[in-house]
Amino acid sequence: MAKAMGTANVKSMEVTASGVNYAVGQSAAPGAPWPKFNVKTVTRVVNYETGSMRDDSVRTRVDDPPRGGAPFVRGEQRLIFVLSGDHAWNVVGETATPAPIAMVDRQFQLWTTPEGVVKAAIANKATVQGRTFAFAVPGRFKVKATVNDQNLVEKVEGVFAHPVTGDMPVEATFTEYQDFGGVMYPRKIRRVEGGFPALDLTVTSVKVNVPVDIQTPADVRQATTGFYSRVTSEKAADGVWYLTGGSHHSVVIEMKDHAIVVEAPLNEERALAVLAETRKLVPGKPIRYVINSHHHYDHSGGLRTFAAEGITVVTSEVNRPFFEWALSAAATVSPDRQAKARQKPKVEGMGVKRVLTDGTRSVEIHQISGNLHHDGLIMVYLPKEKLLSEADAYTPPAPNAQPMSPPNPFTVNLSDNIAGLNLDVERVLPLHGRMVPLAELTKAAGK
Ligand SMILES: [Zn+2]
Repeated sequence: MAKAMGTANVKSMEVTASGVNYAVGQSAAPGAPWPKFNVKTVTRVVNYETGSMRDDSVRTRVDDPPRGGAPFVRGEQRLIFVLSGDHAWNVVGETATPAPIAMVDRQFQLWTTPEGVVKAAIANKATVQGRTFAFAVPGRFKVKATVNDQNLVEKVEGVFAHPVTGDMPVEATFTEYQDFGGVMYPRKIRRVEGGFPALDLTVTSVKVNVPVDIQTPADVRQATTGFYSRVTSEKAADGVWYLTGGSHHSVVIEMKDHAIVVEAPLNEERALAVLAETRKLVPGKPIRYVINSHHHYDHSGGLRTFAAEGITVVTSEVNRPFFEWALSAAATVSPDRQAKARQKPKVEGMGVKRVLTDGTRSVEIHQISGNLHHDGLIMVYLPKEKLLSEADAYTPPAPNAQPMSPPNPFTVNLSDNIAGLNLDVERVLPLHGRMVPLAELTKAAGK
């Protein structure tokens, strides 16, 4: 099969394609398809000898107005995703941002390319059965590949380790093989991830053994374990703290006999750090609730860790069935704390409003109604402290940056909700960005 593919002599590749891709984990509601993007062009270079890969793409959003997540950008968006060995990072302009959370997904992608899966099968001593071969990279992923009657790889099925769903299922198909300058390569590449289309590309050019030299930047090299565990806390009011230090924030609220955490983002590493900080800030009181703003995977990747400790998840009813499944789903590739604890998840769904109170402090949770970012987006309001915490409807730009014009429709909707509900807000604790006075949000909403 390696011979049919011409794989043995392939050390590096450059593949250019166009088509559509989707923002996995960013649907407008659980069970809805991933948001779709038109890919004007994507060029992937791979070096199989160094285990490195770089995707450089230009894409535009299909939905207008946008529905669901992924960064809100008007017009063309350029994305550069890189992997080298055990390092993953993204490039924006001249800046490389470490993305350790994407490492396993990208390694899975690299080693499930038509050429890569044959090389990985040989390296990992795959078992062969008829037209299929299977192998595993412990702690990372499991793969089963099927070849057609010309011994060309036509299907790859597998799972990789995922913080939200334990195992993330993927199925890729490679069809319409052509001879691209001595190497057989599929003209059509499709991928389904988590049950919905993730990629549908038509390949236009394939170059073999072009020089691919991907160097890991120094700051990316340092960002391995511990990258998500840096937590800084800032007191926002008596008994209320804003936990920052990375890309996704949390809020800790001390109640009479327990603590509440708003948001468990990213992954287990982040969740453990947020749990530890909460216990330091509120010693001797159990953490009873974790409030989840919405189910987008970057905002819910720590919930399995909270569930493993028996902490109740409060979320929109829109998300409850999904979390009841995801928080008890199998994590066979990389068993996490919840896979070991096997705690029955406690998930409480809510409608437009819920109030948690201890008689002294009130924590109001409101649906952000009609927000196209997510059907079950909720925000947390502390009436006495005049604080509001929300995710993704409004993210403050860098200080003194020009507000988006016309304004982000998600922010306009949030502003309308705050006004419509008569919430008396002084400061906003956004779950991305920085603490700001309400006036900044109002200005960003173009009011
Ligand atoms: Zn989101």
